[in-house]
Amino acid sequence: MAEELNPFKIAQTQLDEAAKIMKLDPQALAILREPMEILEVQIPVKMDDGTTKVFRGFRVHYNNARGPMKGGIRYHPQETLDTVKALSAWMTWKTALANIPYGGAKGGIICDPEKLSKGELERLSRGYIRAIYKFIGPDIDIPAPDVFTTPEIMAWMVDEYEKIVGHSAPGVITGKPLEIGGSLGRTEATGRGGMFVLREAAKKINLDLSKATIAIQGHGNVGQYSHKLAIEMFGAKVVAVSDVYGAIYNEKGIDYNALMAHKQKTGTVTKFPGAKSITNEELLELNVDVLIPAAVENQITSKNADKIKAKIVLELANGPTTPEADLILHKRGILGVPDFLSNSGGVIVSYFEWVQNINGYYWSLEEVNSRLDRKMSESFWDTMETAEKYKTYPRMGAYILAVDRVAKAMKARSWY
Ligand code: NAD
Repeated sequence: MAEELNPFKIAQTQLDEAAKIMKLDPQALAILREPMEILEVQIPVKMDDGTTKVFRGFRVHYNNARGPMKGGIRYHPQETLDTVKALSAWMTWKTALANIPYGGAKGGIICDPEKLSKGELERLSRGYIRAIYKFIGPDIDIPAPDVFTTPEIMAWMVDEYEKIVGHSAPGVITGKPLEIGGSLGRTEATGRGGMFVLREAAKKINLDLSKATIAIQGHGNVGQYSHKLAIEMFGAKVVAVSDVYGAIYNEKGIDYNALMAHKQKTGTVTKFPGAKSITNEELLELNVDVLIPAAVENQITSKNADKIKAKIVLELANGPTTPEADLILHKRGILGVPDFLSNSGGVIVSYFEWVQNINGYYWSLEEVNSRLDRKMSESFWDTMETAEKYKTYPRMGAYILAVDRVAKAMKARSWY
C-alpha cells in the first residue's frame, strides 16, 4: 500500500501507461523511468542561538534532452527524495508539453520555514546554493520558487550564486523580484495562462463564456487571478468561490473588487455580504458551466465525480482529480483540462524571464501576455489533437505528447 502512494511510483506508473498506448521504444522508456542525476547535500546553518543545525537538501536532474533542467525548490518539513524525484519527472513532461526548450528538475530542503527566523532562512538558502552551485547554472539547471519559497528567497540565492561564480548571472534562477531581473506578468501568470486555456476549451465545446457561470475552489494566487480575469477577459459570471474556511455562492455573480476588500478586512472569502454560505464539497457539485479547482490535490474523486455538473473542469491546482475520477469525468463527456497543461503559465513566464535575462532586454507586459497566450493555446490544441489521435482522454493525450517530444530529442542525440 505504502508503495502505491509513493509519488515516484505513481509518476513511473503514469509514464508506463503512456508508453504502452504510444508504443514507446523500450530503450527510451528505460532512460525515462529514472532521473539522470541526483544530488543529496548537507547544509550546516548557524542558528540565532549560536548552535549549528544540519539540514538535508536535494536536487534532482530528471532529463535534459530538450535543454537545461528546470524546476522549483521546495522547503517542506515532510520533504522526501522520492517526492522530489516524482516532481522532477512531472517537470520534464510539463516543459515538453509547453514546448519550451527545457528538461525537468526539482529541489527541496527538509525544513519548516515557519520555525526559522528570517536570518536563519537566508543563511539556509545561501547554504543550499553553496552546496549545489556546481549542479546549477543558466545553461545547466535553472531553479525557481515553489512550495514555501518566495521571490525574496530567489534573490538571496541568485546573489549567493553570483558571488561564487564572480559575475552577473540572472538567468540561473527565475521567479526573481522585478528589481533584479524578474519578468513582468510572472505573479499572475498561472491564473492568466489558465484563462487562455479556458478560452480555447470553451471554443472546443462551443460554450459562450460571456454567458457562462464559473465556480472556483481556492482563492489564493491562482484562484484570485482566475476570478479577476474570467470577469475581465470574458465577462463570465463567477458564482462561487472558496478558501480553506468555506465557500460562498451568489447566482448573480461575485464582484471581484468587493470580495477582495472583504478579504482584506476579514482574511477570508466566507461571510461575504449578499452571498450564501455553502461547503467546499457543495461548490464542486454546483450546476455551473466551468469548475476550476485551484486549491489542493484529491478534490474530485470516485466519490463525487458522478455528481460534477460542469461542462469543463479546468485543473489549476496540482493533482485535484484522482485517476479514477478522471476516467469517470471523461466517460460522462466532461472536458477535463489536465493540470500540467492548464497551470503551466508559471513555468512559461519563467522561461520568458530566462530569455530576457540572457538577452539583457526586457519585454513589456503586453508582450509577455501575448506570447503566453500563443504558447498556452498551442499546448491546448496539440493536446486535444494527440488525445483524439490515440482515442484517449486529455490527460493521457498530454502525457503522450510530452513523452514523445522528450523521446524524439533523445533519439536525435542518439541516446538510444
Ligand atoms: P495559495 O496558497 O496562494 O492559495 C491556496 C488557496 O486554497 C487559499 O485560498 C486556501 O485558503 C485555499 N485552500 C487550501 N486548502 C483548501 C481546501 N481544502 N479547500 C478549499 N480551499 C482550500 O496557493 P496558489 O499558489 O494559489 O496555488 C493553488 C494550487 O495551484 C496549488 O495546487 C498549487 O500547487 C497550484 N499551482 C500554483 C502555481 C502558482 O504559480 N502559484 C503554479 C502551478 C500550480
